[in-house]
Amino acid sequence: MTLLDQLKNSGATQLYIGGDWRESSDGGRIDVLDPSTAEALTSVASGNEDDARGAVDAAASVQPQWAATSPGERAEILTRAFNLMIERKDELAHLVVQEMGKALSEAAGEVAYAAEFYRWYAGEAVRNLGSISTAPGGDKKIIAIHQPIGVSLLITPWNFPLAMATRKIGPAIAAGCTMILKPASDTPLSALALGRLMSEAGLPDGVLNVLPSNRSSKVVPVILGDDRVRMVSFTGSTEVGRTLLAEAAKTVVKAGMELGGNAPFIVCDDADIEASIQGAMIAKMRNGGQSCIAANRFLVHEAVVGEFTRQLTAAMRALKVGPGMEPGVELGPLINQRAQDDMSESVEVAVGAGSAVAAGGETGRSPGFYYQPTVLTDVTPDNPVLGREIFGPIAPVTSFSTDDEAIALANDTMYGLAGYVYSRDLGRAMHISEAIEYGMVGINRGLMSDPAAPFGGVKQSGVGREGAHEGMLEFLETKYIAADW
Ligand code: NAD
Repeated sequence: MTLLDQLKNSGATQLYIGGDWRESSDGGRIDVLDPSTAEALTSVASGNEDDARGAVDAAASVQPQWAATSPGERAEILTRAFNLMIERKDELAHLVVQEMGKALSEAAGEVAYAAEFYRWYAGEAVRNLGSISTAPGGDKKIIAIHQPIGVSLLITPWNFPLAMATRKIGPAIAAGCTMILKPASDTPLSALALGRLMSEAGLPDGVLNVLPSNRSSKVVPVILGDDRVRMVSFTGSTEVGRTLLAEAAKTVVKAGMELGGNAPFIVCDDADIEASIQGAMIAKMRNGGQSCIAANRFLVHEAVVGEFTRQLTAAMRALKVGPGMEPGVELGPLINQRAQDDMSESVEVAVGAGSAVAAGGETGRSPGFYYQPTVLTDVTPDNPVLGREIFGPIAPVTSFSTDDEAIALANDTMYGLAGYVYSRDLGRAMHISEAIEYGMVGINRGLMSDPAAPFGGVKQSGVGREGAHEGMLEFLETKYIAADW
């Protein structure tokens, strides 16, 4: 039986609150589409304001007991959850393909990546270190301890429906927080599957509540407006992030924000071009370009831009496009109709401003929300396409003549999530890495995500970090105790 059938048969397409599966109190449901056919796979319950209050009640009622569990016990739950995800990697990957559309090989990669957050935070749970020192005046001891911040709201996007959830659930569990997970409406099934799996791993009822809802703008303010909720951890667009920061300000709720990006991919004239193409294909095409750290602007030195574009165009044309479950497919459909329309619009904008299409430039397959791998050339720095977060399989190529010009172009955006630099001269690459205003930089590599690394952005790409030790600190408060003994 597929995992989707298991979810349907066990009632796990409902809301998961306090360890129970229940329908929304007004019976609302969300249709979940298969992006490769545009047809409904199933539907799940859609929480309303009353359900949101119920979820906060459930999380708040077990917060004290959960905070009092031993770090070792929380680490064991995370380890069991890691093992369960690995045992079930095939069925989880299948579910991700069904609701999100990515190629099966990528979905398998996502399951492994998602599970690694549990393994990493199983280790961090037992390393919640504080500090003790003697005050400079010698009059007291300064003791700093870290305590769970409390009930947390986790809001996740659709692009990595498992990994974006475990990247938050893992540290929240390690820290001793209870939580309400509100997944994206396009991909609620992976989150519900995680709810079920965490219960099997021994997570007590009420610690993780899963509240799909297509009424976020009503439901989320109810949760953030409740004094018992102390943290919101959001991954999604900068636009929604701004709204949530304003909402969180009303009750001074701590906010962790992983927002949009507009990653520059800088190729210097001394770069290994073949290696840069391999990196470009990962940085641009991982998840079909639907990644916040996806290369969004290729900035290539004028001496090598011809060769780079020729090789990139060939690599993009060679990709096999089709339904994610089909053998050999490398690029699945986009998430929904809006995403497909956005691609057509991005190409129109670029071409309208003088760019040429070297590959793709059309939707291609139908039914399903496909868009062909696309390369745009002659994209001048003033082309408005460079200001868009493309979020799909379109690669605009712009040339530069000096490193200072590349740095200025890279920084000419409100975003600051990830950037990439290719050069054989490590000193030059380090100089550029320091000069570009980004939270993360990949030097001579197109893949940088790692649960052990601090992931996050500067400028309007976010606040705070996920992964690494920093990711757990987001769910902890520091308490200072002044002591004489
Ligand atoms: P989105 O902002 O539309 O939605 C993200 C989540 O917020 C979803 O769960 C959605 O239901 C919810 N939401 C939407 N409107 C809301 C509102 N008014 N109040 C409360 N919640 C609301 O983003 P998306 O389309 O799901 O994801 C794509 C975006 O996410 C891109 O901009 C991408 O760069 C970003 N992203 C960032 C990271 C990162 O780590 N920085 C990772 C993945 C995706």
